[in-house]
Amino acid sequence: MAKEKILIVEDEKEIVKLLTYNFEKEGYQVLTASDGEAGLALAKSKRPQMIILDLMLPKVDGIEVCKQIRRDSQVPIIMLTAKKEETDRVLGLELGADDYVTKPFSVRELVARVKSLFRRSKEKAWETKLVQIGKLEVDLERYEVKLSGKLVELSSKEFTFLKILLSAQGKVLTRDQLLESVWGYEQASEIDTRTVDQHVARLRVKLGSEASRLATVKNIGYKFKLA
Ligand code: CA
Repeated sequence: MAKEKILIVEDEKEIVKLLTYNFEKEGYQVLTASDGEAGLALAKSKRPQMIILDLMLPKVDGIEVCKQIRRDSQVPIIMLTAKKEETDRVLGLELGADDYVTKPFSVRELVARVKSLFRRSKEKAWETKLVQIGKLEVDLERYEVKLSGKLVELSSKEFTFLKILLSAQGKVLTRDQLLESVWGYEQASEIDTRTVDQHVARLRVKLGSEASRLATVKNIGYKFKLA
């Protein structure tokens, strides 16, 4: 099994060294960044399963890093804060950090928090943005769809279309709703609703043996049958 990746975003070298040593000893793979910008880049490219995020960082501060990561991921984030940064800590939790540790902290306590957060939030990590329906596997992070393990080539519009149908959890979406969500049109003219039908037809071809899940609801719209 691949090691779980922890990203440490912290500009104090001593803390980075200490944490890297201890997390590696616990069997984790450690990635480090010494400013917010590098931290964001690593979070996006390496998809860590846990992020330890200092608040006061050069270039982009911890609050902003947290906010940006939360736009596309529910990866667990533990904030490192100094006592005087109480309001920032509250703000951090509001922005979606899962836990915080006040400096100076005990490494043993931080390791324990990381372990408990891993246990609690496995289902929230990057990998679990994976939806499995029949022979279909939809990876909402990577914008990938597989049918029986084979990659299906979808245009970005087709993927968005599928994603919106999936997020409706089996409910019917009207052509107008689909148009608005996928194309952002406010009003659907006749030619526009036909665009929806054309996308459905193309998607059905690409979904092969699972095509019948994309069901037409006569005179209303479409739904994606989950069962
Ligand atoms: Ca700092």
